[in-house]
Amino acid sequence: MSQSPMNFDPDEHFHSAPLRLTIDLPAIADNWRDMAKRSGKARAAAVVKADAYGLGIEDVGRTLYHAGARDFFVAVPAEGETLRPYAPEARIFVLSGVWPGMEQTFFDNDLVPVLASEEQLAFWMSAVSNHGDHPCALHVDTGFNRLGLPMEAAMELSSDVSRPASFSPVLVMSHLACGDDPQHPMNQQQLQSFRSVRAAFDGIEASVAASAGTFHGPDYHFDLTRPGIALYGGEAVSGVKNPMRPVATAEARILQIRSAKAGETVSYGASYRLSRDSRLATVSVGYADGYLRSLSGHGIPLRDSVSEGAFGFIAGYRVPVIGRITMDITIFDMTDVPEQAFKIGDYVELFGQNMLLDDVARAGGTIGYEMLTGMGLRYERRYVEQEDI
Ligand SMILES: *Cc1c(COP(=O)(O)O)cnc(C)c1O
Repeated sequence: MSQSPMNFDPDEHFHSAPLRLTIDLPAIADNWRDMAKRSGKARAAAVVKADAYGLGIEDVGRTLYHAGARDFFVAVPAEGETLRPYAPEARIFVLSGVWPGMEQTFFDNDLVPVLASEEQLAFWMSAVSNHGDHPCALHVDTGFNRLGLPMEAAMELSSDVSRPASFSPVLVMSHLACGDDPQHPMNQQQLQSFRSVRAAFDGIEASVAASAGTFHGPDYHFDLTRPGIALYGGEAVSGVKNPMRPVATAEARILQIRSAKAGETVSYGASYRLSRDSRLATVSVGYADGYLRSLSGHGIPLRDSVSEGAFGFIAGYRVPVIGRITMDITIFDMTDVPEQAFKIGDYVELFGQNMLLDDVARAGGTIGYEMLTGMGLRYERRYVEQEDI
């Protein structure tokens, strides 16, 4: 029997999905306001590249726009095109810059290319000579060696009187290589270099801080900060308590509960042998859902250096992943959880309020950014729109 759209209850689907993801939009808005406050006199932008770190650029974009964000950063032009209707009056910067053949997308959607190489710079100058005034930003490399104009090229450009009148940079920016480590000497070196760039482009706004840099204080704020991961509740600075609200909760259903005897093995490779009679939960999540194989409890090379795999959370208990994570299935050891506390069909929290995203990521030898952006297509998503729901 097919359901009419009139009485389709999206929550009903959510409550029976094998995998589900809850995205707390008020927490995102709150995190942005928090980062805006930490930015002091500078404005806070919002970085929403990679589908807003996997959480959905449309819903996240409109939430941040309503919270007051008017500067957005995406990685590629298509993301800017998708965002535009949700952030109508905002400035949208495209971090990978512009290629010949792409310029019309920038003009049509009012996107600002972040010019990051001498080739892009030359191309954009010729494009605006023909088209007329359109803003751009300049990314200057102060030591990252990834994207950005070399320092000398930027300095030359700043005093180049022959550049076309329609060439209109509105922002000069750089990116820190070691922002996550406030003690790293690279931060100061890059800051010094960026100050000289900024001075050369007097009158144009400047930006150097992503989430981590925003935490490093006013020296790093300039005119605009560019927080990304902090908006999504992730950890930007290593070794200090993360002050942001968690945003995403990922859960997967228990498909089966099994009893297994001491001496038996679990999952591919038979790499984990049970030391006691055990109760196991077979759960509907695997590496195809970004629950990385490196989170496995046993039988993967990473366990030689990081002893424990990931934990899930259910009914107040932390339960370890045992054996290898497979494409669609993960096995959790439920032996220490009272039998009446869980049943088939219950959900195990993979990360969220109880299992912090970055703790899970660390167990897999990676970072929260990668967990969020790698969740795949199988999660049923629900957006929480208001506080306290
Ligand atoms: C991704 C990115 C950001 C945001 O970084 P977070 O660490 O997520 O805050 C800012 N600036 C640039 C250039 C980026 O590539």
